[in-house]
Amino acid sequence: MITGRYAPSPSGRMHLGNLLCCLLAWLSAKSKGGQVLLRIEDLDTQRCPRHFADAIVEDLAWLGLSADGPEPPLYQSERAEIYQYYYDKLADRGLVYPCFCSRSQLHAASAPHRSDGQVIYAGTCRHLTPAQVAEKRKIRAPAWRVRVPDEEIAFVDGHMGPYAENLARDCGDFYLRRADGVFAYQLAVVVDDALMGVTEVVRGADLLSSTPRQLWLYRELG
Ligand SMILES: [Zn+2]
Repeated sequence: MITGRYAPSPSGRMHLGNLLCCLLAWLSAKSKGGQVLLRIEDLDTQRCPRHFADAIVEDLAWLGLSADGPEPPLYQSERAEIYQYYYDKLADRGLVYPCFCSRSQLHAASAPHRSDGQVIYAGTCRHLTPAQVAEKRKIRAPAWRVRVPDEEIAFVDGHMGPYAENLARDCGDFYLRRADGVFAYQLAVVVDDALMGVTEVVRGADLLSSTPRQLWLYRELG
């Protein structure tokens, strides 16, 4: 069965962009006899208080677009242990390393940029020695990145058509975890879509370029 999902990030009341995305996900799944599941992407609990999530559930019900489950919806803010398990799988393989770069270092004018404006990580902290890491940790807590391969990841999007990225060249090592311990969107999305049995993702075009990273993580996490 086709299983789609709504995955709003409740940093405010629902807006037209959320609504359009939910409607399209609903239409796509329902037109094929499928179901739609609801997941609240509230990893950043400061930005996403529970009352906004509750309001989204109410608004969807009022619009006749209620999800088919789970009940209650799945809250990413309650799943840190699960993300930790999968994070550790990558860390145990030596694929995760600490990054001490500041925002201003990452966004320096000389930093390479993608066509969508995002910064490509230059790999500055990729080869720090244990001694260098220990020294830097005295000054600031690191965020954590995953080492990506020099490999092209290609897929065909149902609307946008073929899309491919070489992860090393077009993206660079990306964040799995913030310095404050919050897991990154890229990791949580992959783990949740897999565990929820999601077979179809309908989402904004701004997330097209996240898909190669997520397909690669999906593969690496088995
Ligand atoms: Zn760094």
